[in-house]
Amino acid sequence: MKFDNAYCVSLDEKLTIYDVRDLNFDETVEFDSSRESFQCPNDACRAAFDSGNRLTTYNASNPRFKRTPHFKNMPSTRHLPDCPYLSPETAPSTLDPEQPLDDIEGEQNFPVELLLTRRTYTRKVPSAADTRPAPPAAEPMPAAVDIPAAHEAKAAPNRTSVFAHPVECFVSNHANKDLLKRMPLTIGELSLNYNAFFKKVEYCQDRQGLIYWGRIKEIKDYKTSFSVVFDKPLWVDKKRYSINVYLSKALIDNYRQRTVFLEEIKSVIDQAEDLYCFFYGVTPHLKQVPSKKNPDQTFSVFSCEIDNLDHFLIRQAPGLDAP
Ligand SMILES: [Zn+2]
Repeated sequence: MKFDNAYCVSLDEKLTIYDVRDLNFDETVEFDSSRESFQCPNDACRAAFDSGNRLTTYNASNPRFKRTPHFKNMPSTRHLPDCPYLSPETAPSTLDPEQPLDDIEGEQNFPVELLLTRRTYTRKVPSAADTRPAPPAAEPMPAAVDIPAAHEAKAAPNRTSVFAHPVECFVSNHANKDLLKRMPLTIGELSLNYNAFFKKVEYCQDRQGLIYWGRIKEIKDYKTSFSVVFDKPLWVDKKRYSINVYLSKALIDNYRQRTVFLEEIKSVIDQAEDLYCFFYGVTPHLKQVPSKKNPDQTFSVFSCEIDNLDHFLIRQAPGLDAP
């Protein structure tokens, strides 16, 4: 059984595996998922067992992964008989009822919205023998008894602020275009389906404000920036333009995931084989840049500068640009 989210005891929050990865790589918060306790996201089920009844993580801390990250049971994990996470038939977000969730390789938990403001967490003050959080006094909990467990899990709107989550939905299901066309995604003011929101970077002139992606040709290391050069060119009036995005080194130095980010960039510089770049928030446009060989000459490229590294991602995506 794979879990779309899990309850994190120390943060007193339900997290997706992408939240966990984001926290693991974040140098500004103290978080190491291998030392955290994760439990069943179903409130009734979690309350029925002691704090030793836990879930474990899969691919929570690999910067690069091939198989979709998730939470899973440990051999000792127990659930209530009516826990929706116990059986594939009642599990939330199984999009294909014909197929048990364990057999599905791709990410089935599609967020309906990418929130552009990062989620923040407050660590719970540990107290002995307390496994159930008290509801906040100002906001009385709704009468949970009226809501069947399975319904509760299915009804929860699914939003994320971790860019890697919708990207994994797109990448791991890229062969299933019908599914991607069915699943809605909102970012800011724009609502489209997953298939329409992810745009090959060479078609970035068709529409502004999408998530653009492309296979990386190389990353160039300049004095104050890195330049990610895409494999495919952009054609305007039968003229061929190369496409790149700039990453300012000052921006990276101030990034909360600086260490892992720089390691990834360095490894791409060594070998950019089968790696893809995804970004949101900026659109490449035609620019004149000075030539290296003849500084008084310029040449034309489609380019832009990344302004938020939270909405920028380099990853493997086997076969993504296959025709
Ligand atoms: Zn459970």
